[in-house]
Amino acid sequence: MSVTALLDGSGDFGPDLVVGYEADMARDLRDQAFLASETITIPISAYLIEADGALLLVDTGLSDSRGPASGHLIEALARVGVRPDDIDAVLLTHLHPDHVNGLTRPDGGRAFSRAAVLVQEEEFAYWTDDAIVATMPDFRQANARAALETLAAYGDDVVLFGRTERLTNDIAAVALPGHTPGHTGFRLESEGETLLIWGDIVHLAAYQFARPDWGMVFDTDPKVAAETRRAILEAVAAEREMVAGMHLPFPGFGYVERRGAGFQFHAAEWQYGLEDRGSSS
Ligand SMILES: [Zn+2]
Repeated sequence: MSVTALLDGSGDFGPDLVVGYEADMARDLRDQAFLASETITIPISAYLIEADGALLLVDTGLSDSRGPASGHLIEALARVGVRPDDIDAVLLTHLHPDHVNGLTRPDGGRAFSRAAVLVQEEEFAYWTDDAIVATMPDFRQANARAALETLAAYGDDVVLFGRTERLTNDIAAVALPGHTPGHTGFRLESEGETLLIWGDIVHLAAYQFARPDWGMVFDTDPKVAAETRRAILEAVAAEREMVAGMHLPFPGFGYVERRGAGFQFHAAEWQYGLEDRGSSS
């Protein structure tokens, strides 16, 4: 099995997006991380998994729907010799725009012609329930409508899975609720090693490893999100398990260490992905 980080683009996060923000603490944490500005730029990544001859994509980036700082997923795939039509399945961590918008082209058609799209059942139920959507703030209703339109392009190729379902021999879903109700990580196992691709457990590495109680205004339930974040950080630190995240410093592979009342992220070694797929490139 191999896993390749794909950079779709970047986004800017100001303090107004942080739930629980404390200005003095935030300034100290930015100083420690050599960040000069209150607005922090984070990557928007996706991951390509090659296993048993299949090509799986975890999330699809934001597309260029918000401007040229994102929408580079297809270029990133081309650089490692993969065409969109080569993708067998897309696994979604959740249905926010920076994870699903890349499923469709600007004309609304499918970006990945052959791919099944795997969505966790509670996540799908939440965003497709008209009664729930009607109670959401406007920006969330717009996200819900956009996600539905995007999934509609895949029709019967949208496949739902359960909270902890095993999706292949080597990949299992891990329920990580709070950021969204069905927010899901994927645990990969290969030759005795594991990797947890944890989606949006951490958006702002400079803050949230030290202060896992700080959430994001995008969290459907910031309290549950914070509980989930602390629990999974404790688990991967105890197990010394490698993680990958869509908004961790690119390429986003690393390890978590307990540090005081919080945690510290250590980037893992990585290699440049070489184009070696003679038949598909
Ligand atoms: Zn995200």
